[in-house]
Amino acid sequence: MNKGKHFTRVCLDCGKVMENVAGNLRFCASCRRERHNQYCRDYRAHNEKPARVMWYTVWDAKTGDLLASGTSEMCARRLGYKSANSFASAVSHGLSGSHRTYKYTFARERIDRSEVDSLPPVRTIRKKPAGAPTPTSCKG
Ligand SMILES: [Zn+2]
Repeated sequence: MNKGKHFTRVCLDCGKVMENVAGNLRFCASCRRERHNQYCRDYRAHNEKPARVMWYTVWDAKTGDLLASGTSEMCARRLGYKSANSFASAVSHGLSGSHRTYKYTFARERIDRSEVDSLPPVRTIRKKPAGAPTPTSCKG
């Protein structure tokens, strides 16, 4: 019995001799596990780069004029916020509706990072936010 598992192979990684194994086996068990871990690490590292970014659009609450649109950095600079973070938190407050006194109307959407890279500085969309799209804020 044990058909097809009568080969003696040498692990390509550590050189460990493995007897009575399949002919196509190339790595011993521990090296296979290590390679899998490495694969997972690579995968995770690759996916930590955000493929999608938040795109903000800001209107004047009174006149409805488009004031700024772009990433939080771009809008913060345009509207005079001292940092992208302070702009983002202002948007969160504005969208939550708890601060009615805000002079801006905000919209927030997720778009592809490649879209940002290939875009001109200001995108002219005139679409008003329809209702509250219940944004999920992720901190950290
Ligand atoms: Zn090995």
